[in-house]
Amino acid sequence: TTGPTTELRTDPRAVARAALRACGVDPDRPAPPATSPTTGGAAFDVVSPLDGQVVATVPAAGAADVEAAVAAAHETWLRWRTVPAPVRGRLVRRLGDLLTEHREPLADLIGVEVGKIRSEALGEVQEMVDVCDLAVGLSRQLEGRTLPSERPEHRLSETWHPVGVVGVISAFNFPAAVWAWNAALALVCGDTVVWKPSERTPLVALAASALLERAAAELGMPAGLNRTVVADATGAAPLVDSPLVPVLSATGSERLGREIAPRVAARFGRAILELGGNNAAIVTPSADLDLAVRGIVFAAAGTAGQRCTTLRRLIVHESVADELLARLSTVYSGLRVGDPFDPATLVGPLFSAATHDAMRAAVDEAVAGGGSVVVGGERVAVGPQRAHYVRPAVVEVPAQLDVVRRETFAPVLYVLRYREFEEALALNNDVPQGLSSAVFTRDQREAELFTSVVGSDCGIANVNIGTSGAEIGGAFGGEKSTGGGREAGSDSWRAYMRRATTTVNFSRDLPLAQGVDFGS
Ligand code: NAD
Repeated sequence: TTGPTTELRTDPRAVARAALRACGVDPDRPAPPATSPTTGGAAFDVVSPLDGQVVATVPAAGAADVEAAVAAAHETWLRWRTVPAPVRGRLVRRLGDLLTEHREPLADLIGVEVGKIRSEALGEVQEMVDVCDLAVGLSRQLEGRTLPSERPEHRLSETWHPVGVVGVISAFNFPAAVWAWNAALALVCGDTVVWKPSERTPLVALAASALLERAAAELGMPAGLNRTVVADATGAAPLVDSPLVPVLSATGSERLGREIAPRVAARFGRAILELGGNNAAIVTPSADLDLAVRGIVFAAAGTAGQRCTTLRRLIVHESVADELLARLSTVYSGLRVGDPFDPATLVGPLFSAATHDAMRAAVDEAVAGGGSVVVGGERVAVGPQRAHYVRPAVVEVPAQLDVVRRETFAPVLYVLRYREFEEALALNNDVPQGLSSAVFTRDQREAELFTSVVGSDCGIANVNIGTSGAEIGGAFGGEKSTGGGREAGSDSWRAYMRRATTTVNFSRDLPLAQGVDFGS
């Protein structure tokens, strides 16, 4: 640990209690709305990364509770699917309004549970509001098509119908927005939702669920359209395995995807997988370095390196590498690490001791592989020693070592030098993950190549913008071991519906397709 201890002015427990109360959750017994009772007696302690102390204890849902929630959500769906989509949209509009009204307490909970700085915590709530807006618009646009039939006096069309219960498993680092991406769309699509938030960050989930229940009650709509179950992997099993959950949207590590994807496939369910990333940015000789530095620092050090889209690999042309590294070094050294509720702070705590261990192990492995630390990596003393604050690290590596090809969910940015653009593209793609990527260039040929068929193989390919911080309108997700799912924008709503193709014959004859003759 280096440097003097910075004061932690925030009292996470007091902030969490006030925020829960403001959102209609009893801070003395924080639990999901009554539509999701828990019966097991077990409980999860919620530890704040700000000071490493327990801020609340939440009852745990066991497998029987989750199974009951799925069954109840299925019953509710049988009614909800018949409500016209634009009427369903009203519920999501009211949810968006309530989220806006409660943005401060919701951001408080995200700050306390995840350790996000204020601006990013508020940004996460804004993302929930934005996806509600998108969903309300979609509620009048869930359109099918009419296609030309090859047969006379026939009509060929497709219709999209609600699919059933959508399971949502979310990760700790976007403890509320991931649910909104899924739930806002699923609800207008006529589905019901069973949400299993990370058991390590359940408080904002309880708050958001309570606001949705309130929206439904105000509008006279059914209770329990969303049921929130705070469970661990064992308790969550029915969500993964039940045939009453036709769509399971799961956000988390590649390990999570490997565990659940075969189980969902075994019952022919549909999985929307949003898994780990290992995102790179290429900095070319023509790059605007002022802009690149800003884009890189936000993407690599923002959220203390704990976003799926965090920039983890920097692929720099050798002609600009020294200058860029010098500039990054200066900026990194001055990054304010500390209490995330302090408006001057840019880097809050790591989520846990395990995150800190993983970060140190990764840096050690990179150094053992011939790498050298350019800046950062050291612990910064903030408040009690149970918390883990670090200066984000930049580590230059001689090649794409094994450790570089893995996602370490901590603020470590690996730097590689390149000579030819094709070599940079190959490095960008030579990892198992395929979530986000970026190029900083003023050369149109390079920008076009990067976004072309032979360019980045990721779900997100940006030009002169970092890898993180996507907006809601585009489809979000990645290829390869990131899982292939797409959420939030564009036509991703289709994943929450089933398609019926209908041929209507309004002739007096029965012509068969492909001209097949079956007698007459
Ligand atoms: P994690 O995989 O440990 O847990 C994610 C969620 O899955 C939690 O709710 C957890 O309880 C649950 N889970 C784990 N195993 C399960 C099982 N067998 N059955 C049912 N549920 C199970 O991930 P985390 O540490 O919470 O989050 C960090 C990871 O999430 C990183 O890898 C990050 O890249 C990824 N992430 C991806 C995206 C994306 O959109 N692609 C977004 C955010 C986070």
